Amino acid sequence: MKFETIKRVILAAIMLPFVFMLFEGVVVIRSSLKQYRDLEKDRQFADVLARGGSIAATEILSEIGATRLYLARPNSSTAADMQRSRVALDRERSAFYASLPSRDTLEEGLAGELSILSLAYSRIVAARSAADRGLYAGSDPGSIYWYAALKQLAVVDALSPRISDPVLLEKSNQLMGILLTYYGERLITGVGTRYLDHGVSARFPVELFIQGKVMLGEGMDHMVFHSTAPIVRDIVAYLGRSGQVKANAITDAILAGSRPTREARNVWATAQSERMAFLQQKMIEAAKDIHETGESLSTRSHIHLTLILSLCAGLLILATLVMLLAARGLRLIDRLTRDREMLVGELRNAAQIDLLTGLYNRRGFEVAASALLTQAEHGSRWISVVLFDLDHFKKVNDAYGHDAGDAVLRHVAGVARENFRSFDLLVRHGGEEFLALLPDSTPDDAAIVAECVRLAIEAAEITLPSGDLLKVTASFGCAGRANDGFNRNFEDLVKRADLALYAAKASGRNCVVSGPTVPLATQEERRKTASGGGFDSRI
Ligand code: GH3
Ligand code: MG
Ligand code: MG
Repeated sequence: MKFETIKRVILAAIMLPFVFMLFEGVVVIRSSLKQYRDLEKDRQFADVLARGGSIAATEILSEIGATRLYLARPNSSTAADMQRSRVALDRERSAFYASLPSRDTLEEGLAGELSILSLAYSRIVAARSAADRGLYAGSDPGSIYWYAALKQLAVVDALSPRISDPVLLEKSNQLMGILLTYYGERLITGVGTRYLDHGVSARFPVELFIQGKVMLGEGMDHMVFHSTAPIVRDIVAYLGRSGQVKANAITDAILAGSRPTREARNVWATAQSERMAFLQQKMIEAAKDIHETGESLSTRSHIHLTLILSLCAGLLILATLVMLLAARGLRLIDRLTRDREMLVGELRNAAQIDLLTGLYNRRGFEVAASALLTQAEHGSRWISVVLFDLDHFKKVNDAYGHDAGDAVLRHVAGVARENFRSFDLLVRHGGEEFLALLPDSTPDDAAIVAECVRLAIEAAEITLPSGDLLKVTASFGCAGRANDGFNRNFEDLVKRADLALYAAKASGRNCVVSGPTVPLATQEERRKTASGGGFDSRI
């Protein structure tokens, strides 16, 4: 597989799971964010519910009571009580409005209910000023407060469908149920008491009575259908008490048109007022419970937010790590590619270089020489070859050992490298035989260079592995040809140099012989005679 492909595969192996994880992470963060928003919204609704419920359960009722007392007995003490109840209601109302989500985030239905509630409160403000100016003498402002309380209930009711948290939803239903039950009972008690107190001639306000019964029924439905909470069980148990059951029977009798006895009326009125006090207590408890649920929602939403932030941070760290890993992986692949190329180069070199001497081996020489010859054919006029062979080298091996022979070969190669010219090509041609290709050189040039090398070899003192010093000599054969483009046969040139070397050996060794400019066939003949005397120059 190509390195580029490996690179892509590794990148894909790192990046694909990462992209998948990133996608998963984003999905988890999005859903957590939604949960966080729901929790925050529910927390806000819990505040609104708790405050709204508390206003309907406490402050409105206190102000009705205090106002009625003041209107019945206007004095400084009742006036002070009335003022206090007004201040308390106003304070709670401000807190209620402050706990509302901003107007533009509210849905139309809920915003409408809130506008009606504001209107109901403004009617309370008007009733207050009328009461202060004595305009209520002989009448009752209860219906105005009653209306505001009902609107407060409507807001609580309008919030329920917008609640996501099941616990808060259940508690909102409990509160709504208790509020409806309470206000239903209150209507029945108020209407019933007035009817019974006004004597036989009074008209029975059946619509109001039925309205009270309906509210009461709705309230019980809210509680019983939506909750099995202890507070609901308490209320159901309370209403199942014999005194309460008896009062219900009297209520039904009144509704049916009969008039209970005075004694029965008193029993009924006492049971009803006890029931209302009980329900009022339960309303306060339910509102408090919702307030606590709101606090727990707030804690949960904070935990959620921390979780989301940690998730984001984790994802960010992960992304950075994967990026670093990918960058490292890519760098590693690049390095491996470079190492591989270097290794391939080294292997190619090793295949072309003689390990003992560091000179080209025949294979390397062929590659280098063919490039050099092509160049030479285009530029220079002459090309020459010098072939040289160590004299009596076998004796070195025999006398000092093969290692010593190797050391000599290495040393001679070094001397040759130093004394041939930098552009000459040197090759270990055989065991102790070397060849040099001299571009742009006449045979005479080659002979001069060869003589230089010969002298250097002769002069060199070689230190053997044993520590002994040794001197060796070599014989040289040179041959050259005009680079005219016709005579391209390099083998011929080597053959002619070989013959010259042979001649050098034959003529006593440690000398340089240049090949003749006679045809090759004639040289072959002379080689057969092995006289060496046919060479035309000996340096
Ligand atoms: P001449 O002067 O005629 O060339 O005699 P010579 O002894 O040098 O030639 P000969 O061909 O008789 O012997 C060459 C010897 O070189 C034989 C062989 O053992 C030795 N030789 C060849 N290659 C190596 C090598 O790589 N290392 C060592 N130590 N010896 C080698
Ligand atoms: Mg030899
Ligand atoms: Mg030899």
